[in-house]
Amino acid sequence: MAIQSMTNTRTEDIAGTIQQIHRLEKAGCEIIRCAVPTMEAARALSSIKQEISIPLVADIHFDYRLALAAMENGADKIRINPGNIGDADRVRQVVEAAKEKKIPIRIGVNSGSLEKKYLEAYRQVTAKGLAESAMEKVRLIEEMGYDQLVVSIKSSNVKMCVEAHRQIAQVCPYPLHVGITEAGTLQAGSIKSAIGLGLILDQGIGDTIRVSLTGDPVEEIRAAKLILKTLGLRKGGVEVVACPTCGRTQIDLIRLANQVEEMVDGMELDIKVAVMGCVVNGPGEAREADIGIAGGRGEGLLIRKGQVVRKVREEELLAVLKEELEHWNE
Ligand code: SF4
Repeated sequence: MAIQSMTNTRTEDIAGTIQQIHRLEKAGCEIIRCAVPTMEAARALSSIKQEISIPLVADIHFDYRLALAAMENGADKIRINPGNIGDADRVRQVVEAAKEKKIPIRIGVNSGSLEKKYLEAYRQVTAKGLAESAMEKVRLIEEMGYDQLVVSIKSSNVKMCVEAHRQIAQVCPYPLHVGITEAGTLQAGSIKSAIGLGLILDQGIGDTIRVSLTGDPVEEIRAAKLILKTLGLRKGGVEVVACPTCGRTQIDLIRLANQVEEMVDGMELDIKVAVMGCVVNGPGEAREADIGIAGGRGEGLLIRKGQVVRKVREEELLAVLKEELEHWNE
């Protein structure tokens, strides 16, 4: 299961786009997509590609010439919606070029651009209409003699999206790229994506994922990793659990939990860390974590598997935890 994101810089801004991709790579992004709205953007791909180490997908709408130019400039995959790329001859030119260069094509279908015939047949956007529309495009390209395909269906209606994936997974032999489109800002988008992707991935459906968020794409990677880890589809990395705080909380736990999250970001360890707000119930409630800290007034505890191993001063908690994690495997 590969994690994908999309840059939100102007692709024509080569330096800015490379910089953002580097941040995304560092955060764990495994495939990156860039919008290609202009010829200048298509040409920029070759410079961008030289500086990055993950596959680069060109996102094309409307103009088949941009798809051709993106492939000329080194795109590893192109994403098109054959429905808006023009007539069959134009689609054929794109397919022929992809075939020659062995570049996979991702066929995207979006609830916002579902063809009239499916809207009329089912009176509105439906899961069935979305799945049928996607399969029609798959067949169109298959008939042109190409089968290096990835299929994606996007809808911002979570339940419809889940149902459309269930339906297409039964008939589509190609990898599926899954995501909830226009999910929203960090909180709303993460929740919608977690529910939608959770329900889809838990059925064993999906090969690449993207969490779409209105914000810094690095947050998309964090959310995607968390979703995969929660579903048991990814191992590794430090999982931070924190108590919700209550009337017994004796320290600024919200701040401490955020500091711990930031500190462990990128650590290779495959462990669970608990951050608890009181020394009375904290150790017990942190029982399932490999290591934990609990804060009291003026003092704190270092906990291993629910057992207190050390008392420290409150202000030392973070540093002591850091030291423990750094020497975890020794
Ligand atoms: S660990 Fe302590 S502070 Fe946190 S929720 Fe439990 S009782 Fe409240």
